[in-house]
Amino acid sequence: MTKYVFVTGGVLSSVGKGVTTASVALLFKAMGFNVTIVKIDPYLNVDAGTMNPYAHGEVFVTEDGGETDLDIGHYERFLNTNLSKKNNITAGQIYYAVIMKERRGEYLGTTVQIIPHVTNEIKQRIKEVGREHDADIVFVEIGGTVGDIEGLPFLEAARQMKLEEGFNSVAFIHVALVPMLKATGEQKTKPVQHSVQELRRIGIQPDIIVARCEKPLDPEARSKIALFSNVPPEAVVSNHDVTNIYEVPIVLMNQMVHRILANRLALDYREPDLSPWLNFLEKVSKNAKMVKIAMIGKYTKLKDSYISITEAIKHASAYVGVKPALKWLESTDIENGYIDIEKELTDINGALILPGFGKRGTEGKVRAIKYLREHNIPTLGICFGFQLMVIEIARNVIGLSDANSSELDPSTPHPVIDLLPSQKGIDTIGGTMRLGAISIKLYKGRKVYEAYGKEIISERHRHRYGVNMKYIDKLESAGFVVSGVSLDNESIVEFMELNSHILFIGTQSHPEFKSKPLAPSPLYLSFISKASAN
Ligand code: GLN
Repeated sequence: MTKYVFVTGGVLSSVGKGVTTASVALLFKAMGFNVTIVKIDPYLNVDAGTMNPYAHGEVFVTEDGGETDLDIGHYERFLNTNLSKKNNITAGQIYYAVIMKERRGEYLGTTVQIIPHVTNEIKQRIKEVGREHDADIVFVEIGGTVGDIEGLPFLEAARQMKLEEGFNSVAFIHVALVPMLKATGEQKTKPVQHSVQELRRIGIQPDIIVARCEKPLDPEARSKIALFSNVPPEAVVSNHDVTNIYEVPIVLMNQMVHRILANRLALDYREPDLSPWLNFLEKVSKNAKMVKIAMIGKYTKLKDSYISITEAIKHASAYVGVKPALKWLESTDIENGYIDIEKELTDINGALILPGFGKRGTEGKVRAIKYLREHNIPTLGICFGFQLMVIEIARNVIGLSDANSSELDPSTPHPVIDLLPSQKGIDTIGGTMRLGAISIKLYKGRKVYEAYGKEIISERHRHRYGVNMKYIDKLESAGFVVSGVSLDNESIVEFMELNSHILFIGTQSHPEFKSKPLAPSPLYLSFISKASAN
Protein backbone atom coordinates (compact mmCIF):
# COMPACT_ATOMS: atom_id res chain seq x y z
CA MET A 1 0.00 0.00 0.00
CA THR A 2 1.29 3.46 -0.91
CA LYS A 3 2.24 5.84 1.90
CA TYR A 4 2.04 9.63 1.65
CA VAL A 5 4.24 12.21 3.33
CA PHE A 6 3.04 15.80 3.13
CA VAL A 7 5.58 18.59 3.56
CA THR A 8 4.20 21.96 4.60
CA GLY A 9 5.93 25.28 5.15
CA GLY A 10 5.75 27.95 7.78
CA VAL A 11 6.94 31.49 8.53
CA LEU A 12 8.46 32.28 5.13
CA SER A 13 8.61 30.69 1.70
CA SER A 14 11.91 30.06 -0.13
CA VAL A 15 13.63 28.60 2.91
CA GLY A 16 14.56 25.35 1.19
CA LYS A 17 11.44 23.25 1.54
CA GLY A 18 12.09 21.72 -1.89
CA VAL A 19 15.62 20.66 -0.99
CA THR A 20 14.40 19.30 2.36
CA THR A 21 11.67 17.26 0.66
CA ALA A 22 14.10 15.96 -1.97
CA SER A 23 16.62 15.06 0.75
CA VAL A 24 14.17 13.05 2.86
CA ALA A 25 12.92 11.29 -0.27
CA LEU A 26 16.50 10.46 -1.21
CA LEU A 27 17.06 8.84 2.21
CA PHE A 28 14.07 6.57 1.59
CA LYS A 29 15.26 5.78 -1.91
CA ALA A 30 18.64 4.88 -0.40
CA MET A 31 16.77 2.59 2.02
CA GLY A 32 15.46 0.69 -0.99
CA PHE A 33 11.95 2.16 -1.24
CA ASN A 34 10.41 3.28 -4.48
CA VAL A 35 9.69 6.99 -4.02
CA THR A 36 8.34 9.88 -6.02
CA ILE A 37 7.66 13.53 -5.22
CA VAL A 38 4.74 15.77 -6.11
CA LYS A 39 5.01 19.56 -5.91
CA ILE A 40 1.80 21.42 -5.30
CA ASP A 41 1.73 25.07 -6.33
CA PRO A 42 -1.42 26.73 -5.03
CA TYR A 43 -1.37 29.57 -7.61
CA LEU A 44 -4.00 29.77 -10.34
CA ASN A 45 -1.61 29.54 -13.26
CA VAL A 46 -2.05 26.18 -14.97
CA ASP A 47 1.73 25.84 -15.10
CA ALA A 48 4.84 27.88 -14.35
CA GLY A 49 5.44 28.59 -18.04
CA THR A 50 3.60 31.89 -18.10
CA MET A 51 5.49 33.42 -15.17
CA ASN A 52 8.49 35.70 -15.19
CA PRO A 53 11.54 34.05 -13.57
CA TYR A 54 11.54 36.86 -11.02
CA ALA A 55 8.20 35.56 -9.69
CA HIS A 56 9.22 32.02 -8.74
CA GLY A 57 12.66 31.47 -10.25
CA GLU A 58 13.47 29.27 -13.21
CA VAL A 59 10.81 27.45 -15.20
CA PHE A 60 11.95 23.83 -15.20
CA VAL A 61 11.16 21.60 -18.18
CA THR A 62 10.43 17.87 -17.84
CA GLU A 63 11.06 15.13 -20.43
CA ASP A 64 7.38 15.17 -21.38
CA GLY A 65 7.43 18.93 -21.95
CA GLY A 66 5.91 20.17 -18.70
CA GLU A 67 6.86 23.73 -17.73
CA THR A 68 7.12 23.27 -13.99
CA ASP A 69 8.24 24.79 -10.75
CA LEU A 70 11.99 24.68 -10.14
CA ASP A 71 11.53 22.24 -7.25
CA ILE A 72 10.86 19.48 -9.80
CA GLY A 73 14.47 20.11 -10.87
CA HIS A 74 15.69 19.56 -7.29
CA TYR A 75 13.68 16.33 -7.09
CA GLU A 76 15.11 15.00 -10.36
CA ARG A 77 18.65 15.90 -9.31
CA PHE A 78 18.41 14.38 -5.83
CA LEU A 79 16.53 11.25 -6.87
CA ASN A 80 18.58 10.84 -10.06
CA THR A 81 15.42 10.21 -12.01
CA ASN A 82 13.11 11.86 -14.55
CA LEU A 83 9.70 13.03 -13.43
CA SER A 84 6.66 14.00 -15.44
CA LYS A 85 4.58 17.15 -15.76
CA LYS A 86 2.03 15.37 -13.57
CA ASN A 87 4.45 15.68 -10.63
CA ASN A 88 3.63 19.39 -10.49
CA ILE A 89 0.02 20.04 -9.53
CA THR A 90 -1.24 23.64 -9.51
CA ALA A 91 -4.51 25.10 -8.27
CA GLY A 92 -5.02 26.27 -11.85
CA GLN A 93 -5.04 22.66 -13.10
CA ILE A 94 -7.39 21.56 -10.35
CA TYR A 95 -9.98 24.30 -10.82
CA TYR A 96 -9.75 24.01 -14.60
CA ALA A 97 -10.47 20.27 -14.41
CA VAL A 98 -13.33 20.72 -11.94
CA ILE A 99 -14.98 23.43 -14.04
CA MET A 100 -14.61 21.38 -17.24
CA LYS A 101 -16.26 18.42 -15.46
CA GLU A 102 -19.09 20.64 -14.30
CA ARG A 103 -19.63 21.87 -17.89
CA ARG A 104 -19.66 18.29 -19.16
CA GLY A 105 -22.38 17.53 -16.65
CA GLU A 106 -20.31 15.10 -14.59
CA TYR A 107 -21.59 16.55 -11.33
CA LEU A 108 -25.14 16.95 -12.60
CA GLY A 109 -27.67 17.75 -9.91
CA THR A 110 -25.14 18.81 -7.28
CA THR A 111 -23.69 22.08 -6.07
CA VAL A 112 -20.00 22.08 -7.01
CA GLN A 113 -17.90 23.03 -3.98
CA ILE A 114 -14.33 23.23 -2.69
CA ILE A 115 -15.19 20.33 -0.37
CA PRO A 116 -15.65 17.66 -1.75
CA HIS A 117 -15.20 18.39 -5.48
CA VAL A 118 -11.96 20.35 -5.43
CA THR A 119 -10.45 18.27 -2.62
CA ASN A 120 -11.42 15.03 -4.39
CA GLU A 121 -9.72 16.21 -7.57
CA ILE A 122 -6.57 16.99 -5.56
CA LYS A 123 -6.50 13.61 -3.80
CA GLN A 124 -7.17 11.74 -7.01
CA ARG A 125 -4.26 13.44 -8.81
CA ILE A 126 -1.81 12.78 -5.97
CA LYS A 127 -2.80 9.10 -5.92
CA GLU A 128 -2.53 8.86 -9.69
CA VAL A 129 1.12 9.99 -9.56
CA GLY A 130 1.76 7.33 -6.91
CA ARG A 131 0.15 4.65 -9.10
CA GLU A 132 2.02 5.72 -12.24
CA HIS A 133 5.36 5.61 -10.45
CA ASP A 134 4.41 2.42 -8.61
CA ALA A 135 5.57 4.26 -5.50
CA ASP A 136 5.93 2.88 -1.98
CA ILE A 137 5.99 6.47 -0.74
CA VAL A 138 4.73 9.65 -2.40
CA PHE A 139 6.20 12.81 -0.91
CA VAL A 140 3.94 15.80 -1.48
CA GLU A 141 5.41 19.26 -1.00
CA ILE A 142 2.75 21.94 -0.60
CA GLY A 143 4.10 25.26 -1.89
CA GLY A 144 3.74 28.53 -0.02
CA THR A 145 3.17 28.75 3.71
CA VAL A 146 0.42 27.54 6.02
CA GLY A 147 -2.29 30.18 6.19
CA ASP A 148 -2.16 31.23 2.53
CA ILE A 149 -5.74 31.34 1.22
CA GLU A 150 -4.85 29.46 -1.97
CA GLY A 151 -3.22 26.66 -0.03
CA LEU A 152 -6.23 25.81 2.14
CA PRO A 153 -7.96 23.29 -0.19
CA PHE A 154 -4.68 21.38 -0.51
CA LEU A 155 -4.15 21.21 3.26
CA GLU A 156 -7.75 20.12 3.64
CA ALA A 157 -7.20 17.36 1.05
CA ALA A 158 -4.10 16.24 2.97
CA ARG A 159 -6.05 16.18 6.23
CA GLN A 160 -8.75 14.04 4.62
CA MET A 161 -6.17 11.65 3.20
CA LYS A 162 -4.87 10.82 6.66
CA LEU A 163 -8.38 9.93 7.73
CA GLU A 164 -9.10 7.88 4.62
CA GLU A 165 -5.76 6.12 4.12
CA GLY A 166 -5.18 5.46 7.81
CA PHE A 167 -2.85 6.78 10.48
CA ASN A 168 0.20 4.75 9.41
CA SER A 169 -0.20 5.69 5.76
CA VAL A 170 0.03 9.47 5.97
CA ALA A 171 2.58 11.61 7.80
CA PHE A 172 3.33 15.32 7.97
CA ILE A 173 6.62 17.20 7.98
CA HIS A 174 6.54 20.92 8.69
CA VAL A 175 9.50 23.01 7.52
CA ALA A 176 9.79 26.43 9.13
CA LEU A 177 12.31 29.17 9.59
CA VAL A 178 13.89 29.73 12.99
CA PRO A 179 15.39 33.21 12.78
CA MET A 180 18.37 34.22 14.86
CA LEU A 181 18.73 37.61 16.51
CA LYS A 182 22.09 38.93 15.37
CA ALA A 183 22.71 40.95 18.55
CA THR A 184 22.31 38.05 21.01
CA GLY A 185 22.72 35.02 18.74
CA GLU A 186 19.45 33.71 20.17
CA GLN A 187 17.28 31.42 18.02
CA LYS A 188 13.65 32.58 18.14
CA THR A 189 11.01 29.87 18.01
CA LYS A 190 7.81 31.94 18.22
CA PRO A 191 7.24 32.13 14.43
CA VAL A 192 7.47 28.31 14.22
CA GLN A 193 5.08 27.95 17.15
CA HIS A 194 2.57 30.18 15.37
CA SER A 195 2.79 28.35 12.07
CA VAL A 196 2.32 24.99 13.82
CA GLN A 197 -0.69 26.40 15.67
CA GLU A 198 -2.15 27.47 12.34
CA LEU A 199 -1.56 23.98 10.95
CA ARG A 200 -3.24 22.34 13.94
CA ARG A 201 -6.17 24.73 13.63
CA ILE A 202 -6.67 23.32 10.13
CA GLY A 203 -6.63 19.84 11.63
CA ILE A 204 -3.08 18.75 10.87
CA GLN A 205 -0.68 17.65 13.59
CA PRO A 206 2.88 17.59 12.20
CA ASP A 207 4.97 14.50 12.99
CA ILE A 208 8.34 16.08 12.30
CA ILE A 209 9.38 19.73 12.47
CA VAL A 210 12.33 20.69 10.30
CA ALA A 211 13.80 23.92 11.63
CA ARG A 212 15.59 25.95 8.97
CA CYS A 213 18.23 27.96 10.72
CA GLU A 214 21.57 29.60 10.10
CA LYS A 215 23.43 27.72 12.84
CA PRO A 216 22.63 24.24 14.22
CA LEU A 217 19.48 24.38 16.35
CA ASP A 218 20.38 24.77 20.01
CA PRO A 219 18.90 22.33 22.58
CA GLU A 220 16.80 25.00 24.26
CA ALA A 221 15.11 26.03 20.99
CA ARG A 222 14.59 22.37 20.14
CA SER A 223 12.78 21.55 23.37
CA LYS A 224 10.66 24.69 23.13
CA ILE A 225 9.56 23.81 19.59
CA ALA A 226 8.87 20.22 20.67
CA LEU A 227 6.70 21.28 23.58
CA PHE A 228 4.68 23.86 21.67
CA SER A 229 4.33 21.71 18.57
CA ASN A 230 3.32 18.60 20.46
CA VAL A 231 6.11 16.39 19.05
CA PRO A 232 8.97 14.55 20.82
CA PRO A 233 12.26 16.52 20.85
CA GLU A 234 13.99 14.01 18.54
CA ALA A 235 11.35 14.80 15.92
CA VAL A 236 12.53 18.41 15.83
CA VAL A 237 15.30 18.42 13.28
CA SER A 238 17.94 21.04 12.63
CA ASN A 239 18.34 21.90 8.97
CA HIS A 240 21.01 24.54 9.28
CA ASP A 241 22.86 26.31 6.47
CA VAL A 242 25.42 24.22 4.63
CA THR A 243 27.78 25.39 1.89
CA ASN A 244 26.41 22.88 -0.57
CA ILE A 245 22.74 21.83 -0.82
CA TYR A 246 23.74 18.25 -1.65
CA GLU A 247 24.89 17.86 1.97
CA VAL A 248 21.35 18.31 3.31
CA PRO A 249 20.47 14.58 3.07
CA ILE A 250 23.49 13.82 5.28
CA VAL A 251 22.55 16.52 7.80
CA LEU A 252 19.06 15.00 8.06
CA MET A 253 20.29 11.42 8.10
CA ASN A 254 22.61 12.17 11.01
CA GLN A 255 19.54 13.18 13.01
CA MET A 256 17.74 9.95 12.02
CA VAL A 257 14.83 11.64 10.23
CA HIS A 258 14.42 8.52 8.12
CA ARG A 259 14.15 6.26 11.17
CA ILE A 260 11.55 8.50 12.85
CA LEU A 261 9.52 8.70 9.66
CA ALA A 262 9.84 4.97 8.86
CA ASN A 263 8.64 4.22 12.36
CA ARG A 264 5.72 6.61 12.04
CA LEU A 265 4.69 5.01 8.74
CA ALA A 266 5.16 1.46 10.08
CA LEU A 267 7.83 0.76 7.45
CA ASP A 268 10.76 -1.56 8.03
CA TYR A 269 13.90 0.32 8.92
CA ARG A 270 16.82 -0.28 6.58
CA GLU A 271 20.24 1.33 6.63
CA PRO A 272 20.33 3.85 3.72
CA ASP A 273 23.02 3.15 1.14
CA LEU A 274 24.25 6.57 0.09
CA SER A 275 27.63 5.52 -1.32
CA PRO A 276 27.24 7.03 -4.84
CA TRP A 277 25.99 10.25 -3.23
CA LEU A 278 28.90 10.36 -0.79
CA ASN A 279 31.31 9.80 -3.69
CA PHE A 280 29.89 12.86 -5.39
CA LEU A 281 30.14 14.94 -2.19
CA GLU A 282 33.75 13.92 -1.84
CA LYS A 283 34.48 15.20 -5.34
CA VAL A 284 32.79 18.53 -4.51
CA SER A 285 34.65 19.03 -1.27
CA LYS A 286 38.12 18.34 -2.71
CA ASN A 287 40.26 21.41 -2.37
CA ALA A 288 40.40 22.13 -6.05
CA LYS A 289 41.50 24.88 -8.37
CA MET A 290 39.05 27.72 -8.97
CA VAL A 291 37.44 28.21 -12.37
CA LYS A 292 35.85 31.60 -13.03
CA ILE A 293 32.73 31.54 -15.16
CA ALA A 294 30.96 34.69 -16.36
CA MET A 295 27.19 34.26 -16.30
CA ILE A 296 25.69 36.69 -18.77
CA GLY A 297 21.93 37.14 -18.60
CA LYS A 298 19.13 39.48 -17.70
CA TYR A 299 17.56 37.86 -14.64
CA THR A 300 20.85 37.78 -12.72
CA LYS A 301 19.41 39.60 -9.68
CA LEU A 302 17.59 36.42 -8.69
CA LYS A 303 20.03 33.53 -8.94
CA ASP A 304 17.15 31.02 -8.84
CA SER A 305 16.26 32.21 -12.36
CA TYR A 306 19.03 30.00 -13.72
CA ILE A 307 19.22 27.32 -11.04
CA SER A 308 19.49 24.29 -13.33
CA ILE A 309 22.42 25.96 -15.10
CA THR A 310 24.26 26.79 -11.89
CA GLU A 311 23.66 23.23 -10.67
CA ALA A 312 24.87 21.76 -14.00
CA ILE A 313 28.05 23.83 -13.62
CA LYS A 314 28.50 22.50 -10.07
CA HIS A 315 28.03 18.89 -11.22
CA ALA A 316 30.47 19.23 -14.11
CA SER A 317 33.02 21.06 -11.94
CA ALA A 318 33.00 18.26 -9.37
CA TYR A 319 33.84 15.73 -12.07
CA VAL A 320 36.51 17.92 -13.69
CA GLY A 321 37.99 18.53 -10.22
CA VAL A 322 37.58 22.31 -10.04
CA LYS A 323 35.57 24.75 -7.94
CA PRO A 324 33.35 27.12 -9.91
CA ALA A 325 33.27 30.82 -9.06
CA LEU A 326 30.41 32.50 -10.85
CA LYS A 327 30.60 36.12 -11.94
CA TRP A 328 27.10 37.39 -12.72
CA LEU A 329 26.91 40.05 -15.41
CA GLU A 330 23.59 41.75 -16.04
CA SER A 331 23.22 42.20 -19.79
CA THR A 332 21.10 45.35 -19.46
CA ASP A 333 24.00 46.91 -17.52
CA ILE A 334 26.38 45.98 -20.35
CA GLU A 335 23.89 47.48 -22.80
CA ASN A 336 23.63 50.73 -20.81
CA GLY A 337 27.39 50.99 -20.41
CA TYR A 338 27.36 50.43 -16.61
CA ILE A 339 29.54 47.36 -17.07
CA ASP A 340 32.81 47.58 -18.92
CA ILE A 341 33.08 44.14 -20.53
CA GLU A 342 36.77 44.48 -21.37
CA LYS A 343 37.44 44.94 -17.67
CA GLU A 344 35.00 42.33 -16.42
CA LEU A 345 35.87 39.58 -18.89
CA THR A 346 39.68 39.75 -18.82
CA ASP A 347 40.25 37.40 -15.90
CA ILE A 348 37.53 34.81 -16.56
CA ASN A 349 38.10 31.22 -17.69
CA GLY A 350 34.80 30.74 -19.48
CA ALA A 351 31.43 32.34 -20.14
CA LEU A 352 27.87 31.18 -20.32
CA ILE A 353 25.33 33.10 -22.37
CA LEU A 354 22.08 32.47 -20.54
CA PRO A 355 18.64 31.73 -22.01
CA GLY A 356 15.87 34.30 -22.09
CA PHE A 357 13.07 36.09 -23.87
CA GLY A 358 12.52 39.57 -25.25
CA LYS A 359 14.64 42.49 -26.32
CA ARG A 360 15.89 44.03 -23.09
CA GLY A 361 19.58 43.37 -22.56
CA THR A 362 20.16 41.58 -25.86
CA GLU A 363 22.56 44.14 -27.32
CA GLY A 364 24.64 43.79 -24.15
CA LYS A 365 24.81 40.04 -24.67
CA VAL A 366 25.82 40.48 -28.33
CA ARG A 367 28.65 42.80 -27.28
CA ALA A 368 29.90 40.30 -24.72
CA ILE A 369 29.73 37.46 -27.28
CA LYS A 370 31.89 39.45 -29.71
CA TYR A 371 34.56 39.90 -27.03
CA LEU A 372 34.46 36.23 -26.02
CA ARG A 373 34.70 35.07 -29.64
CA GLU A 374 37.56 37.41 -30.50
CA HIS A 375 39.51 36.54 -27.34
CA ASN A 376 39.17 32.77 -27.71
CA ILE A 377 37.46 32.34 -24.31
CA PRO A 378 35.45 29.09 -23.85
CA THR A 379 31.83 30.11 -24.38
CA LEU A 380 28.61 28.17 -24.16
CA GLY A 381 25.34 29.67 -25.44
CA ILE A 382 22.10 28.15 -24.20
CA CYS A 383 18.92 28.57 -26.26
CA PHE A 384 18.53 32.38 -26.49
CA GLY A 385 22.28 32.60 -25.78
CA PHE A 386 22.86 30.44 -28.86
CA GLN A 387 20.51 32.57 -30.96
CA LEU A 388 22.48 35.69 -30.00
CA MET A 389 25.74 33.96 -30.98
CA VAL A 390 24.24 33.44 -34.45
CA ILE A 391 23.23 37.11 -34.58
CA GLU A 392 26.68 38.28 -33.48
CA ILE A 393 28.45 36.21 -36.15
CA ALA A 394 25.96 37.28 -38.82
CA ARG A 395 26.60 40.92 -37.99
CA ASN A 396 30.30 41.01 -37.24
CA VAL A 397 31.78 38.17 -39.30
CA ILE A 398 29.43 37.88 -42.27
CA GLY A 399 28.75 41.62 -42.39
CA LEU A 400 24.94 41.61 -42.18
CA SER A 401 25.03 44.58 -39.84
CA ASP A 402 21.29 44.61 -39.12
CA ALA A 403 20.87 40.86 -38.68
CA ASN A 404 18.53 40.02 -35.82
CA SER A 405 15.91 37.63 -34.50
CA SER A 406 12.36 38.33 -35.60
CA GLU A 407 11.44 37.97 -31.90
CA LEU A 408 13.48 41.12 -31.21
CA ASP A 409 12.99 43.08 -34.43
CA PRO A 410 10.04 41.83 -36.52
CA SER A 411 11.05 44.01 -39.47
CA THR A 412 14.74 43.08 -39.63
CA PRO A 413 15.95 42.61 -43.23
CA HIS A 414 18.02 39.62 -42.05
CA PRO A 415 16.03 37.40 -39.68
CA VAL A 416 18.86 34.93 -39.04
CA ILE A 417 16.73 33.69 -36.15
CA ASP A 418 13.09 33.26 -37.07
CA LEU A 419 9.86 31.82 -35.73
CA LEU A 420 9.87 28.04 -36.22
CA PRO A 421 7.49 26.95 -39.00
CA SER A 422 5.58 24.79 -36.49
CA GLN A 423 4.97 27.87 -34.32
CA LYS A 424 3.25 29.86 -37.07
CA GLY A 425 -0.46 30.33 -36.43
CA ILE A 426 -0.28 29.49 -32.72
CA ASP A 427 -2.21 32.18 -30.90
CA THR A 428 -2.24 31.01 -27.29
CA ILE A 429 0.80 31.39 -25.07
CA GLY A 430 0.44 28.71 -22.35
CA GLY A 431 2.19 25.40 -23.05
CA THR A 432 2.58 26.03 -26.78
CA MET A 433 6.35 26.36 -27.21
CA ARG A 434 8.51 23.58 -28.66
CA LEU A 435 8.84 21.73 -25.37
CA GLY A 436 10.46 18.71 -23.79
CA ALA A 437 12.90 16.00 -24.83
CA ILE A 438 13.69 15.70 -28.54
CA SER A 439 16.24 13.36 -30.15
CA ILE A 440 19.19 14.97 -31.88
CA LYS A 441 21.69 13.59 -34.38
CA LEU A 442 25.24 14.83 -33.84
CA TYR A 443 27.82 15.11 -36.62
CA LYS A 444 30.94 13.01 -36.22
CA GLY A 445 34.21 14.90 -36.00
CA ARG A 446 32.69 17.94 -34.32
CA LYS A 447 33.45 19.13 -30.76
CA VAL A 448 29.86 18.50 -29.65
CA TYR A 449 30.06 14.89 -30.84
CA GLU A 450 33.33 14.51 -28.92
CA ALA A 451 31.63 15.92 -25.80
CA TYR A 452 28.75 13.41 -25.93
CA GLY A 453 30.74 10.52 -27.39
CA LYS A 454 27.75 9.29 -29.39
CA GLU A 455 25.69 10.11 -32.43
CA ILE A 456 22.12 10.12 -31.13
CA ILE A 457 21.34 12.08 -28.01
CA SER A 458 18.25 13.63 -26.45
CA GLU A 459 17.93 17.02 -24.75
CA ARG A 460 15.02 19.11 -23.52
CA HIS A 461 13.69 22.26 -25.18
CA ARG A 462 11.70 25.41 -24.53
CA HIS A 463 11.58 27.87 -27.39
CA ARG A 464 9.64 29.26 -30.36
CA TYR A 465 12.46 30.58 -32.55
CA GLY A 466 15.38 28.91 -34.27
CA VAL A 467 18.11 29.35 -36.88
CA ASN A 468 16.71 30.42 -40.23
CA MET A 469 17.87 27.75 -42.72
CA LYS A 470 18.30 30.43 -45.42
CA TYR A 471 21.42 31.66 -43.64
CA ILE A 472 23.07 28.32 -42.86
CA ASP A 473 25.49 28.39 -45.83
CA LYS A 474 26.68 31.88 -44.92
CA LEU A 475 27.13 30.96 -41.24
CA GLU A 476 29.02 27.78 -42.13
CA SER A 477 31.34 29.62 -44.53
CA ALA A 478 32.10 31.98 -41.64
CA GLY A 479 33.33 28.94 -39.70
CA PHE A 480 30.25 28.60 -37.48
CA VAL A 481 29.22 25.08 -38.43
CA VAL A 482 26.23 22.91 -37.61
CA SER A 483 27.12 20.07 -35.25
CA GLY A 484 23.69 18.56 -34.64
CA VAL A 485 20.11 18.61 -35.94
CA SER A 486 16.86 17.43 -34.44
CA LEU A 487 15.34 14.10 -35.43
CA ASP A 488 11.75 15.33 -35.19
CA ASN A 489 10.04 16.29 -38.43
CA GLU A 490 11.34 19.85 -38.20
CA SER A 491 15.07 18.98 -38.55
CA ILE A 492 16.05 22.19 -36.83
CA VAL A 493 19.61 23.22 -36.05
CA GLU A 494 20.26 22.09 -32.47
CA PHE A 495 24.01 22.72 -32.08
CA MET A 496 26.56 24.94 -33.80
CA GLU A 497 30.24 25.46 -33.06
CA LEU A 498 32.98 27.77 -34.23
CA ASN A 499 35.83 25.92 -35.96
CA SER A 500 38.73 28.17 -35.10
CA HIS A 501 37.98 28.60 -31.40
CA ILE A 502 38.90 26.69 -28.25
CA LEU A 503 35.18 26.20 -27.47
CA PHE A 504 32.42 28.35 -28.83
CA ILE A 505 29.30 26.20 -28.83
CA GLY A 506 25.67 27.18 -28.97
CA THR A 507 22.69 24.93 -28.49
CA GLN A 508 18.99 25.44 -29.01
CA SER A 509 18.40 22.85 -26.27
CA HIS A 510 18.77 23.03 -22.48
CA PRO A 511 21.21 20.27 -21.47
CA GLU A 512 21.20 21.63 -17.88
CA PHE A 513 17.72 20.19 -17.29
CA LYS A 514 19.13 16.67 -17.50
CA SER A 515 22.29 17.26 -15.50
CA LYS A 516 22.39 15.45 -12.15
CA PRO A 517 25.00 14.99 -9.43
CA LEU A 518 25.30 11.33 -10.41
CA ALA A 519 24.97 12.02 -14.15
CA PRO A 520 26.59 15.32 -15.17
CA SER A 521 25.74 16.85 -18.57
CA PRO A 522 28.37 15.89 -21.19
CA LEU A 523 28.18 19.36 -22.77
CA TYR A 524 28.76 21.18 -19.45
CA LEU A 525 31.58 18.73 -18.66
CA SER A 526 33.33 19.61 -21.87
CA PHE A 527 32.75 23.34 -21.32
CA ILE A 528 34.12 23.27 -17.75
CA SER A 529 37.12 21.17 -18.68
CA LYS A 530 38.02 23.57 -21.51
CA ALA A 531 37.45 26.56 -19.19
CA SER A 532 39.64 25.07 -16.47
CA ALA A 533 42.45 24.52 -18.96
CA ASN A 534 42.14 28.10 -20.19
N1 GLN B 1 13.21 33.53 -26.77
C1 GLN B 1 13.81 32.46 -27.49
C2 GLN B 1 12.80 31.58 -28.18
O1 GLN B 1 11.64 31.58 -27.86
C3 GLN B 1 14.71 31.61 -26.60
C4 GLN B 1 14.01 30.90 -25.49
C5 GLN B 1 14.94 30.39 -24.42
O2 GLN B 1 16.06 30.85 -24.24
N2 GLN B 1 14.47 29.42 -23.65
O3 GLN B 1 13.14 30.87 -29.09
